[in-house]
Order: sequence, then structure tokens, then C-alpha cells
Amino acid sequence: MADSYVRKNLQSIENSLKPYGAQLLPVTKTFGTEVIALAYAEGYRCFGENRVQELLPKYEALPKDIEWHLIGHLQSNKVKYIAPFIGLIQSVDSEKLLAEIDRQANRCGRTIRCLLQVYIAREETKFGWAPEEVLEWVKAGKFRNYAHVEITGLMGMASNSSDTDLVRAEMKGLRQLFDQLKNHAEPGKLDMKTLSMGMSSDYQIACEEGATLVRMGSAVFGQR
Ligand SMILES: *Cc1c(COP(=O)(O)O)cnc(C)c1O
Repeated sequence: MADSYVRKNLQSIENSLKPYGAQLLPVTKTFGTEVIALAYAEGYRCFGENRVQELLPKYEALPKDIEWHLIGHLQSNKVKYIAPFIGLIQSVDSEKLLAEIDRQANRCGRTIRCLLQVYIAREETKFGWAPEEVLEWVKAGKFRNYAHVEITGLMGMASNSSDTDLVRAEMKGLRQLFDQLKNHAEPGKLDMKTLSMGMSSDYQIACEEGATLVRMGSAVFGQR
């Protein structure tokens, strides 16, 4: 049952992403390893988790060729637990956090890929950089202070709203910032390749507005 349910969801989502060339990141938070294994069997190797405590046992239990993405707020004191293996930290919401990721990556002898999480929603609860702040920070070349991280794009969350015009405007703004930052690329340090925006409720709009990666949990695995 669960098997064919997940497979059908994956297929229909992939069909709707195809015209846009966007990649699906299945978000596995709250779902058990047996459910993740279904998507793994379908060929998926990247999964998103939002909490370190939940990610660690899943990392231990599942095949090591999985590339894990951290997508939720990350406390600086937890970076050390994921630094040895994390594939991409999408939720870098402050320079202080980036500095700690850099420090832990150095200790592990790795370069850790990161996305800067940009605050685009008109909601108080979302973490992230202000768009102007990111632009100034990049123009000033501040990213060069961190030798063990590579900034490969931006992540954003639009307002949780039924006002699709608002959601679209927020996503359009993020896309414009993403395009502006492309002009400041320095290979291996900062290179805007990934624009992570869109979730189960708004991925269609995200694709239309140029997302390269959509993060989807409930539309793949069911309600949490
Ligand atoms: C849970 C989560 C998602 C996926 O949400 P769904 O509504 O289940 O698709 C996407 N991004 C972040 C940051 C999340 O925490």
C-alpha cells in the first residue's frame, strides 16, 4: 500500500516538474526509515531533514550513498554532529552560523556546501538574511573569510498564505536576488547554482518563478 502510494506521488510530481527542469528533494522529517527506503528504491539519493536529532539516527540506519540536506534552523552548537557527513546545509540563516560551519568543516578536513536562507515572507517566525543584507555581504566579498564552505545558492520560504499573488511576488524577489548574485561568482567559493524554493503547497508557483530545487514532504509521503 504505502509502497505504491509513494511511488505514484513521486511519478506525478516528477511529471509536473519536468517542463521546468526543477529537481525534487523529498523531505523525510517525521517519516521512518522504512518510508525513506521506498524512495531510495525508486532511485532517490538526496533527502531533506529539518532537525539534527532526527537526522543522526536516520543517517546511521540508512545507506551511506545518501546525500542529506539540512533544511531547518540549525543551532551553532549542533553543527559538529553533522559536519562529518552533511551534503548540503540549506538553512544558513546567519554569518555566525556560517563561521561555525566553516570551523567544523576545517576540523573534518572537508568543504561543506551551503545555501544562504533568505527571509522573503512577511511573517515573524521565519529565519534568514534580509535580501539587501545578502547582496551587500556578497559585494563586500565577506564570503572569502570562510575557506571551508562553498555557497552554492539560496533557500527561501514564501508566506504560508492562500494569496498566490503574494507568494509569487516573494518568490520572484528571491529569483531576482539569485540572478544578481550570479554576477559575483567565484568558483569553489560562491556560485549560484541552486535556488531552493517551493514546498508541497506552493511548488507549482516556485517552478514558474525559477526554482531549481523544490522541497516536498507531505505531497510525497502523506500528511504528517
Ligand atoms: C517540512 C519542510 C518542507 C516540506 O514541507 P511539505 O509541506 O511537507 O512539503 C520544506 N521546507 C522546509 C524548510 C521544511 O521544514
